[in-house]
Amino acid sequence: TVFTSPPLDPVLLENIGYARYTAPTPVQKYSIPIVANGRDLMACAQTGSGKTGGFLFPILSESFQNGPSPPPESAGYGRSRKAYPTALVLAPTRELVSQIHDEARKFAYRSWVRPAVVYGGADINSQLRLIERGCDLLSATPGRLVDLIERGRISLANIKYLVLDEADRMLDMGFEPQIRRIVQGEDMPGVRDRQTLMFSATFPRDIQILAKDFLKDYVFLSV
Ligand code: AMP
Repeated sequence: TVFTSPPLDPVLLENIGYARYTAPTPVQKYSIPIVANGRDLMACAQTGSGKTGGFLFPILSESFQNGPSPPPESAGYGRSRKAYPTALVLAPTRELVSQIHDEARKFAYRSWVRPAVVYGGADINSQLRLIERGCDLLSATPGRLVDLIERGRISLANIKYLVLDEADRMLDMGFEPQIRRIVQGEDMPGVRDRQTLMFSATFPRDIQILAKDFLKDYVFLSV
């Protein structure tokens, strides 16, 4: 009945306990082992299903165990003002990335993982100051992230986990060019060098094409 299979990191389990989650929701029950096994995932799940935990728990558990990875060689020595997140979550709106970030902060508590959030329509300078203070798990709306990459303030070269949340809504909102610029940009590790998870309420043709372009040998989950 609890979060024991596969075993999650003990610090994460304590944080899950503080949140008073006693048992995984169905999407969590299926997605956690799939992600923990290193597989790419295409999941059809609604808001309210607990899908945020479905991707955050396995990513945080593995991150806690593996520890931070150093910036790539290309970063050079000394203090860089560039952030090198190891996990990136893309979502369509300020509300959604803020919710994901709040969960990330709750569950990354007492770990080395520093969550950060950026979104459009808000002052970029205050967001820059925040990401300078640490940015390991970044929740972002696509347009603002492209802006920060183009300003040279965020590099995706260290990404191990890429999540596209509410992919259908991101396409409805016209974010496909920005998403492709991010996922297929030269900075982002190739599909074989990262783990990619896509969540969508629906699975129409345009989402199937994104899944084919962004995921490898993926598991399809519908809850
Ligand atoms: P989500 O679909 O990820 O937005 O989650 C919907 C709501 O369910 C959020 O308020 C979560 O805090 C809550 N939630 C997620 N997983 C669990 C769980 N295993 N047990 C209890 N509540 C949960």
